[in-house]
This record gives sequence, structure tokens and C-alpha cells, in this order.
Amino acid sequence: MNNTKKENMNQCDYLIVGAGFVGSVLAERLASQKNKKVIVLDRRDHIAGNAHDRRNEHGILYHQYGPHIFHTNSDKVFEYLSKFTEWMPYEHRVVGVIDGRLIPIPFNLTSLEILFPPKKAARLKEKLIQQYGVDKKVTVLEMLKNTDPELSDLADYIYKNVFLGYTTKQWGLSPEELSPSVTARVPVHISYDDRYFQDTHQQMPKHGYTKLIENILNHKNIEVRLNQDYKDAQKKIQYKKLIYTGAIDEFFDYELGQLPYRSLRFDFQTYQQERHQSAGQVNYPVSHDFTRITEMGYLTQEQGDKTMVAIEYPMPHVPGETVPYYPIPRDDNNLLHEKYLDLAKEKAPNVIFAGRLGDYRYYNMDQAVASAIAIYDRF
Ligand code: FAD
Ligand code: UDP
Repeated sequence: MNNTKKENMNQCDYLIVGAGFVGSVLAERLASQKNKKVIVLDRRDHIAGNAHDRRNEHGILYHQYGPHIFHTNSDKVFEYLSKFTEWMPYEHRVVGVIDGRLIPIPFNLTSLEILFPPKKAARLKEKLIQQYGVDKKVTVLEMLKNTDPELSDLADYIYKNVFLGYTTKQWGLSPEELSPSVTARVPVHISYDDRYFQDTHQQMPKHGYTKLIENILNHKNIEVRLNQDYKDAQKKIQYKKLIYTGAIDEFFDYELGQLPYRSLRFDFQTYQQERHQSAGQVNYPVSHDFTRITEMGYLTQEQGDKTMVAIEYPMPHVPGETVPYYPIPRDDNNLLHEKYLDLAKEKAPNVIFAGRLGDYRYYNMDQAVASAIAIYDRF
């Protein structure tokens, strides 16, 4: 190959680091709408970031980095993704083991009736409806402020049995030490609706997330390079602009200190049975070192003579050793992230930081897609 050809291969308009949702959507928009040449790098040996799914040795489709359920209220995001996948309806249901019984999570009126004697449950239900309204949601931290002694006792019960143990395991912090938005993701629901989400769109990509991202990236102007770390690859590539969806503190070699993340260890088990548990996800808020067990077949809607579960053990993140799965939403961490953004303005004005790690935001997949579309719209 002559030298000019080689140089052309290493030239692009946009270099995008990360082949997750954010990097892939941005690549697609720039390639298809602006005719830009894009190179997408990922240090992993696959695309789709943390939403990556694959088949195990028994042919069971599973989510390698933890269970991913797609849900959104955004028609725009849903319509955009629908260009790249067919869907299958899926409404996620979760139960939690409390006092040896399985109760619906988020805590709802059925949970109340399972846990308390009928007369007490009826009285509490009436009070909840009076205070908050039918079908309404209230966060446990809000409910704890209630001045009615019976409701404040109930809030205390829910706090101790649903949130305290789970949150301490998941984050190494109590609910009060985190942004209230974390526990607000799973509010008490004054309703018999036992779905985990109430979004207007609740669908799983029919052929999985990896296939969905593969379709997004399938454009003549996009080249994907796997097993390539930004720090090694960037020296060889000439680009006009860089979009970086990795961790911003790592990008700057931790110059201002480490941004805290939480990591996870997954214990995948395959059982010789069609279904292992009574719901897609079983939470263990009080007992055990793990937080939840998710059975993949519910999510993927596949069933055979074997079934596979993912058991999640949270743990601290150690840069270079573990995966930074979750930014830890707290004011001091957000402040440090802002300092990194100031540093970026000064030292890397040509770089756009994006995604769950670049923005240091607890995005769901739909929010990640929406953030990528918003960045593109600003160009
Ligand atoms: P990522 O998917 O993290 O992609 C970033 C990519 O950048 C990675 O592939 C990484 O390898 C690569 N990268 C980083 N640094 C470098 C570098 N220096 N060089 C090369 N490559 C690099 N969302 C939902 O909507 N529903 C769910 O049910 C759900 N469940 C989740 C469960 C778990 C356990 C986790 C961790 C997340 C879950 N999410 C869920 C969130 C979802 O994973 C994210 O919203 C989405 O993956 C964010 O996409 P992203 O592109 O920002 O980041
Ligand atoms: N949570 C909890 N008990 C539960 C479920 C959730 O305490 O049974 C809290 C916990 O802090 C968790 C947060 O609510 O991290 C958000 O839960 P979600 O299911 O949204 O977590 P994710 O799927 O993002 O890991």
C-alpha cells in the first residue's frame, strides 16, 4: 500500500472515542446528515458499550454488563432508534425479598397489603391516597417528612426494608449521602400498577442491543476500530474534532483527582430449567452481599431448557482494574466534574465530552441517546 493511501485511512473529520450509545448515535448523525468521515474507537473488543449483549456457550442471549431494559417517554428518541431496530414489547416487573416474602418493587398498594394485616393496610392506603392522591408517586425521602405518625412509621419501614440496605450495598453510601434523585428513581407508587416503569414506550430491541448499535454504525462514512485505546490510537490518526465518551478524569490523567465511580461484579449462573425465578428481577434489599438477580430470558423473551441469571455484587471502582459503571451522584462529585469541564475549556477546547462517563451523569439509555442528538443539534 502506498503512503498516501495509508495516510487517508488515518484521516477523518471526527474521531469518536467509545462505541456505546452516545458515540454511535453521534457517528451516525455526522456521517449520514453531514457527510463527515468518522472513526469510532473502542478499547473493548466489541461495540454497544455497557449495553452490549451476546450469546453464552449454551446459546443464551445475555447482557454482559448487567440487565438493560429500554424504556422512554421521548417519542423523538423512540422514533430515531426505530430506524435501526424492530421492537418487542416488554414491561419489566421487580419483586423484593422482605421479611421472607416477595413484594412488588417499587413499593405499591399490593406491597402494603402483602406486608400488613388487612385493617392496617386499608387504613394506610386511605391515608396515602388522601395525602398524595391515587396513582401518584412519592419518594421515600419525601414520605419520611410526613407528620402523620402512621405514615411516617410506614415511610420508616419502607426506608429501612427497601432502600437503606440496597443503597448501602449499591453505592457504599446511605440514601441521604447521595443526590435525592437516586432513590427518586424508584418512588413509592400509590397504585396497584406493579410495573417497574410507567413510560409510554417499553420495548426491547428485537435482535438485541449489539445488533441495534451495529445497524446504527453501518454507514459507509463510519469506520469502527476495536481493541484500540484512545491514548495509543490518537497519535496515529489525524482528525478535526474529537468526541470523547470515556471518563473525563482519565482523559486528563486524574490531574484534579479521581472522580468516584461505583463498579460491579457479575456472577452469571446457568440453570437446567426453563425459568428460575418468578419475576424478571428479584431484589435483595436487606439480605446477602448482592443487590439483585436478573433472569435474562424474561428480558430477551427467549426460553429453552436452560436459563441464565446475573447476580450483581457492587464494589468500589479502581481505575485501570474495574469498569466505572456508575458515576456517583453527589454535589461534591458534580463540582469536581465541573472543574474538569473548566480544565477542558482551557486545555482541550476542541474536544466534546459526552455520555455517561464524559458528562458524569446517571443516564439511562434513552437519556444517553437524547443527549447525543442534542449535541448533534447544537453543531
Ligand atoms: P458506555 O456504554 O459506557 O460506552 C462508552 C464506551 O467508551 C465503552 O464501550 C468504553 O469501552 C469506551 N471507552 C472509554 N474510554 C475509552 C478509551 N480511552 N479508549 C477507547 N474506548 C474507550 N439504561 C437503561 O436505559 N435501562 C437499563 O435497564 C439500564 N441498566 C443498566 C445496568 C447497568 C449495570 C449499567 C452499568 C447501566 C445501565 N443502564 C441502563 C445505562 C446504560 O448502560 C447507559 O445509559 C448507556 O450505556 C450509556 O452509553 P454511553 O455511550 O454514554 O456509555
Ligand atoms: N433502590 C433501592 N432498593 C431497591 C431498588 C432501588 O434502594 O429495591 C435504590 C438504590 O439506591 C438504587 C436506586 O434506587 O441504586 C436506583 O435503582 P434502579 O433500579 O434505577 O438502579 P439501576 O437499574 O440504575 O442500577
